[in-house]
Amino acid sequence: MCGQWLDQVVVNSKLNCMYIEDGKIHRLLPMGSIPANCTNVWDAQGLLMLPTFTDSHVHLDKGFPQDQWISRRKVGSILEQFALEKALLAPFSKTLREQACQTLNELLSYGTTHLRVHVDIDPDIGLSHVETILSLKEEFKHCMTMELVAFPQQGLVRSSSASYVSKALDLGVSIVGGVDPAGVDRDIEASLKQIFDIAVSHDAEIDIHLHDPGHLGLFTIERILDYTEQTDTQGKVTISHAYCLGELQIEEVSKLGRRLVQLDVQLITSVPMDSAMPPVSLLKELGVKIRLGTDHTGLDAWTPFGDADLLNRGRRLAEMNKWHDDESLRSTYTFFTSAPLTFHEGDEANFILLKALSPEHALSVVPSRELVCVKGIPVAGKQLSTAWSSLPARSGRE
Ligand SMILES: [Zn+2]
Repeated sequence: MCGQWLDQVVVNSKLNCMYIEDGKIHRLLPMGSIPANCTNVWDAQGLLMLPTFTDSHVHLDKGFPQDQWISRRKVGSILEQFALEKALLAPFSKTLREQACQTLNELLSYGTTHLRVHVDIDPDIGLSHVETILSLKEEFKHCMTMELVAFPQQGLVRSSSASYVSKALDLGVSIVGGVDPAGVDRDIEASLKQIFDIAVSHDAEIDIHLHDPGHLGLFTIERILDYTEQTDTQGKVTISHAYCLGELQIEEVSKLGRRLVQLDVQLITSVPMDSAMPPVSLLKELGVKIRLGTDHTGLDAWTPFGDADLLNRGRRLAEMNKWHDDESLRSTYTFFTSAPLTFHEGDEANFILLKALSPEHALSVVPSRELVCVKGIPVAGKQLSTAWSSLPARSGRE
């Protein structure tokens, strides 16, 4: 046999031993079941096993180098913010790849192995960011999967970026992005028509950033749902942020929530503390699909408080929703994990090992990641250097 045994690993609430072969959990047995004279055994010393994480909303082309402090001035509107971001990022355009690589390694070190990445597109930068991130997707494919969103940050209509979005889809991007059809594009109908036309013609998904507040945001969501229905794109549409849902009456959110479920439209939240947040408990109760994204992974032009750790973000989600009981804490993982908290023989050996007594305990204390494994191969974590068979060093990995 050429696989790997793990001894003393906490899986499914029990101290077990586990045999990994061909990237899968081949055997999952009570502790003490490892055959005598086996040499390929790694002692996990009671570490807890969790599934790896999925970050459903992240940007890799907006972060500043973490060893530098970039001063920002106050801005009066989202359009001023767009201009400020462009100015602040310009000096770092040549190091985009390096910066994105660093962010990917940081995400991996926290156990995130699947990402939905929004990549900036506009007539100034063309497809340069898309090309860089596509090459990194290839470079990191041994340890991460990524789906890319062609994101017209300056406004699809406002910056005349539709042709660039179409070209990005031809290059391998799978999702059409957008931002504030009212507040940025100033023309809800033109903006949504372009987004849905491009998506339908390429059989692509849609993911729209929506920061517009109150009833302007509500009306925009209603129109997104109308377009979803008319174009038969149920199950392919996502609305990111939707801050407006945190500002509306419960009856309004409930009515909209039922339609989101009916048309299978998903919401993504980054659990913001600086703006209104959709009422996640209510929406979840209604059956709305909601996923978690970090959005800001470190210092960027939008905030100095970004954080790449999804476990920490999940903790914030639970805390802000007053989910204090065991069942609620465990269900918090459904917003950001790639698989259930229980493991079975035959499952892909994608997991995180950390020092915690249970998933509930891990969400409470947010311990560092001791080991992150993808298809049974250690790829990150504090104990990577002493784990069974690390991948050889290569560019793109630390
Ligand atoms: Zn975003």
